[in-house]
Amino acid sequence: MLPGRIQELVRLFAQLPSVGEKTAQRFALFLAARDPEMARALGEALIAMADGIVPCARCGNLAEAVASPEAICGICSDGKRDPALLCVVARVQDLMSIERSSAFRGHYFVLGKLLSPLEGVGAEELPLAALRRRIQSTDTPVREVLVATPPSVDGEATALLLAQDLRALGVRVTRLASGVPHGGDLEFADPVTIGRAIAGRRGLE
Ligand code: ZN
Repeated sequence: MLPGRIQELVRLFAQLPSVGEKTAQRFALFLAARDPEMARALGEALIAMADGIVPCARCGNLAEAVASPEAICGICSDGKRDPALLCVVARVQDLMSIERSSAFRGHYFVLGKLLSPLEGVGAEELPLAALRRRIQSTDTPVREVLVATPPSVDGEATALLLAQDLRALGVRVTRLASGVPHGGDLEFADPVTIGRAIAGRRGLE
């Protein structure tokens, strides 16, 4: 019933997180029915993002692509942050949730994935060597690594692995206090809950 170009757009929208077939169709029809300016602006913004955004070379957060020497994000280049504090998160969304709480003023390291024995993700797939390099590379020594992986089975397994792996470096490894519901996602926890979980963080042995 729909022209092929619209069907293609529906197919693409439906691949986005939390977007089902009906919502995908609503987006496509909304854009098709409107002044073409909106669709064009959206298309241009997507292309600009695809070409101009890369992972930060230091932390894995999103950064503007630059020609030289490497792309560094706004957080890593913010001189007002405490370089002795490093927060390890699974995804950029989790970093955003922690930023919204305003309870953390250190730097970050984005793992990109969690240890997941059930899904076959082993320790060798996590960027542990890059994390160790990151901890050892700064002028100011990292004093504490706060592991802010989600309170799920995979998140807890990853936290324990990091505690073991980083012990030899002599940094204090801490974990978010409970408060974010077990199995819950940091992305959906409110800023106050995240702020409390950061304030109440405890050492990981
Ligand atoms: Zn960064």
